Amino acid sequence: MAAPRIIVVGGGLAGLAAVIKIAEAGGNVDLFSIVPVKRSHSVCAQGGINAAKNLKGEGDSTWQHFDDSIFGGDFLANQTLVKGMCEAAPAIIDLLDRMGVPFNRTPEGVLDFRRFGGTLYNRTAFAGATTGQQLLYALDEQVRRHEAEGKVKKYEGWEFLSAVIDGNGLTRGITAMDLRTMEVKAFPSNAVILATGGVGAIFGKSTNSVVCTGSAQSAVFQQGACYANGELIQVHPTAIPGEDKLRLMSESARGEGGRVWVPRKPGDNRGKQIPESERFYFLEEWYPKYGNLVPRDIATRAIHKVVYEMGLGIDGQPMVYLDLSHIDHATLDRKLGGILEIYEKFVGDDPRKVPMKIFPGMHYTMGGLWIDNDHMTNIPGLFAAGECDYQYHGANRLGANSLMSCIYGGFLAGPNALRWAKNQKAAEGDGGAAAEVSRQIAINESLLKKEGKENPFKLWRELGDVMTEHATVVRYNKGLKQADEKVVELLERYRCVSLADRSQWANTSFAFARQLKNMLELARTITLGGILRDESRGAHYKPDFPERNDEKFLKTTRAWFTGAPEGPRFDWEEVDTQYIKPRPRRYDTA
Ligand SMILES: Cc1cc2nc3c(=O)[nH]c(=O)nc-3n(C[C@H](O)[C@H](O)[C@H](O)COP(=O)(O)OP(=O)(O)OC[C@H]3O[C@@H](n4cnc5c(N)ncnc54)[C@H](O)[C@@H]3O)c2cc1C
Repeated sequence: MAAPRIIVVGGGLAGLAAVIKIAEAGGNVDLFSIVPVKRSHSVCAQGGINAAKNLKGEGDSTWQHFDDSIFGGDFLANQTLVKGMCEAAPAIIDLLDRMGVPFNRTPEGVLDFRRFGGTLYNRTAFAGATTGQQLLYALDEQVRRHEAEGKVKKYEGWEFLSAVIDGNGLTRGITAMDLRTMEVKAFPSNAVILATGGVGAIFGKSTNSVVCTGSAQSAVFQQGACYANGELIQVHPTAIPGEDKLRLMSESARGEGGRVWVPRKPGDNRGKQIPESERFYFLEEWYPKYGNLVPRDIATRAIHKVVYEMGLGIDGQPMVYLDLSHIDHATLDRKLGGILEIYEKFVGDDPRKVPMKIFPGMHYTMGGLWIDNDHMTNIPGLFAAGECDYQYHGANRLGANSLMSCIYGGFLAGPNALRWAKNQKAAEGDGGAAAEVSRQIAINESLLKKEGKENPFKLWRELGDVMTEHATVVRYNKGLKQADEKVVELLERYRCVSLADRSQWANTSFAFARQLKNMLELARTITLGGILRDESRGAHYKPDFPERNDEKFLKTTRAWFTGAPEGPRFDWEEVDTQYIKPRPRRYDTA
């Protein structure tokens, strides 16, 4: 019997990890990606990847990594997969090292590790501040080897539009659009893995790359896939605002000794040297044990408090300093090369000499497609891995746990999808492919014919503004409701969009307008899911419900698309807490 063909959508770390495992196990892969795989968003990852190898002799262990991750996620993460990830992590680092990832090493030649947020241990392996790029290129090389052997066929510049699901509800392949010719085609397979990243673009400006729209997740959500914990998104404390997007200043800056502060005296301090005694190192004062390395949700809220409640900031602007200027230049260049250049290029100041001005920004998607412990969604044969699934991080992701969860998740999803595919009978007829292609072509034609007055890019900007205002750091039900009403209004106005460019050759604005509809549909899992979770847990902070409420909300939020104007239907699932019992989450006491 011929080896099964598996479709993997997404060429970031999760997708490539899955491809490698499938090819190694003898399967064949069709790999789809909007961008060339080496340009996938994973390439932007900066600070590092977590594994408790305890090379610094601090008494770290995989159990401690597991505990930090569960505690950091405010107990909302299902524990079986997180435990598996933490146990596998040290061997994954060794594997990456053998693949040739140029990890930083100590003067003795052993792998170097640094501290990241939410832990007291040096647990983060890193390659300067370009870790994602080094990892992605290493996995890409392995995939190319399998490509040369004929086991992998790449479709770069193709956009996944939908899953092909047969009359029995089984996944039978995908439909995809060639982004040059705009041709829509069906591709058959008995298993599909989505590894399509996060949904940052729903918030307009974010630290994500612009292809992180969540359009693929939304497409399968609208086809019946369950979407879990949609309301849980992460705002990173240290980004630099830009006209076009936000740019991350990695947690590694604080891991290498960076200090966050504001002048104690509000107002315009331009041109003044602020003496040490007049600097308010609020994270160090409020959280003496973890200091600048409290988890992201805690640091972000502290910055908000300092700026908006205490009226401090920089020269009257909503910003705080992230200061590296006390660290020697050689260390900075060796350990943070990459982000220093980004700051200098986009702001114009040299962060080796002057403190950086930063502010929180939308960064990561904790929610995602619901998957079981085999990484399969509720649609048989449809799997998910990486930032697009909801496992591993609960209500707040620990820095440097994502790259590990992507690789580990891909390593699980790949073989599981292959096993699944091997056990399936061939589809009857075309498995529904022709009908699905017709449905997608009809969507394209209807969009091209629209003659309304609305500009899709303007709708997107309005979406981003309202989501950023009401669904990020501090959430009120009134604001979330306003945001949801706005999304409904935008969905209505979307019916009247008109495209400036209707050509059918490499038409990026057409592709974007298609994705926008999916972004709008998915946004409602964030707004409505947020309204329903009346508690504060991790990154989901409601001043009107300031405490975590385990009795009512130690549950996964699950959203199901209905197509009705009221939005998705919600139900809740128990969280797997079999190893570590929930306890109060405090970082301000020992
Ligand atoms: C600036 C920045 C720095 C970060 N630094 C770190 C760090 O130091 N450590 C850490 O652990 N995490 C870090 N993260 C998070 C981490 O980088 C991401 O969570 C992770 O890389 C996501 O990988 P992925 O494989 O899930 O998706 P991605 O790398 O986003 O890849 C998604 C893939 O899906 C494809 N795709 C998407 N939609 C479609 C579609 N419809 N059709 C076809 N293809 C599609 C894309 O082309 C791409 O190939 C950082 C994030 C940012 C934004």
